[in-house]
Amino acid sequence: MATKQCTAITKKGVRCTIQVNLRKTDEGYRCIHHDPKRAEQATAMRRKGGIKATSRARTTSDVPPAPETIDDVVTWSAWVAMSVATGKIDSKVAREVTNAIRQFQSGIEKRDLAREMQELRLQVKSLKKRSA
Ligand SMILES: [Zn+2]
Repeated sequence: MATKQCTAITKKGVRCTIQVNLRKTDEGYRCIHHDPKRAEQATAMRRKGGIKATSRARTTSDVPPAPETIDDVVTWSAWVAMSVATGKIDSKVAREVTNAIRQFQSGIEKRDLAREMQELRLQVKSLKKRSA
């Protein structure tokens, strides 16, 4: 038995290749996009997809640049708060981003502390040398 495929001819003049969600019509099997009786459903699906696509594009276009400093951490935290409050990102994404920001902040703090300690060690060493 051959695989069922949508029998419609597309605007480009080739046969539609969709093989899922077919329904038998008077003109043969039709996918949701080529089934006149499911036109409304298809429009709703496209609209839903369109909304998703634009909101995704919007969130990536105004995302702050990758954090490099503690100031950037503040910028990111503010962005996450605004984005989750306005529904630009969902709470799951907000949680993940917040965790990543915390990790970054903690990393910066540890690094800076280690640098400071190293400087103090050198100062102590030179002071000891001077007093000896
Ligand atoms: Zn089709």
